[in-house]
Amino acid sequence: MVIGSLPDQFLMSEIDIVANIKDILSQIEVAAKRAGRDAREIKLIAVTKTVDSARVREAIDAGIKILGENRVQEAQKKVTSYELRVTSGKIEWHLIGHLQKNKAKYAVQLFDLIHSLDSAALAEELNRQAAKINKIQDVLIEVKLSEEEAKHGVLKDELMELLESTKDMKNLNIAGLMTMPPFSENPENARPYFKELRELRGKINELRVTSYELWDLSMGMSHDFEVAIEEGATMVRIGRAIFGERE
Ligand SMILES: *Cc1c(COP(=O)(O)O)cnc(C)c1O
Repeated sequence: MVIGSLPDQFLMSEIDIVANIKDILSQIEVAAKRAGRDAREIKLIAVTKTVDSARVREAIDAGIKILGENRVQEAQKKVTSYELRVTSGKIEWHLIGHLQKNKAKYAVQLFDLIHSLDSAALAEELNRQAAKINKIQDVLIEVKLSEEEAKHGVLKDELMELLESTKDMKNLNIAGLMTMPPFSENPENARPYFKELRELRGKINELRVTSYELWDLSMGMSHDFEVAIEEGATMVRIGRAIFGERE
């Protein structure tokens, strides 16, 4: 049999999820040390979009505690899948992709943290749906720091206004900020965006825009998480470096 005709699961099985996770954890450790930070304040989110439940299971067995999904529907399917039904210890589910208002109801049922709050209208709907099920929904505000067209997130100039508008939303807890810089092969190109997100958090806290201090910075992916950690990331969202390239 020639390599080109190997079925997908053969190619998949060459990816050593356990070893990848071990490598990433030690890279997080090293990057944190380099920045004079405690690695324990950095959470690894395994991004499982398009990854089947059996492989997600492998990651959990290797110590992953937080799963990041892009779509509500895909997460719904996985949560109830046979492979993931029984887990020892709590697994957190995070929504990292864009959320449509009409899916807010399902998102609050499913996700421990929503990284992609990007409008007052969505905040209002999340608050309403969370109140219905008696939940305080943790969210991050996704900030768009570049001019790129297709991306989601609030503009810097709209950030304070959005924070103001959520002040009286009792079922919403704004835990911090998230960003996704434009893709670049060179991770150093992402550094200014990571730095800017950290500075925005500082400004919000200094001006006391919220009644409590924001802490979380969700930034950094497979190719640039070390730079993100140097710039203060408290959550890194990593897919391909754990599970291999997506189809
Ligand atoms: C897919 C995705 C990631 C993970 O990207 P990798 O390059 O696979 O590490 C992180 N954040 C968001 C918002 C994503 O959509």
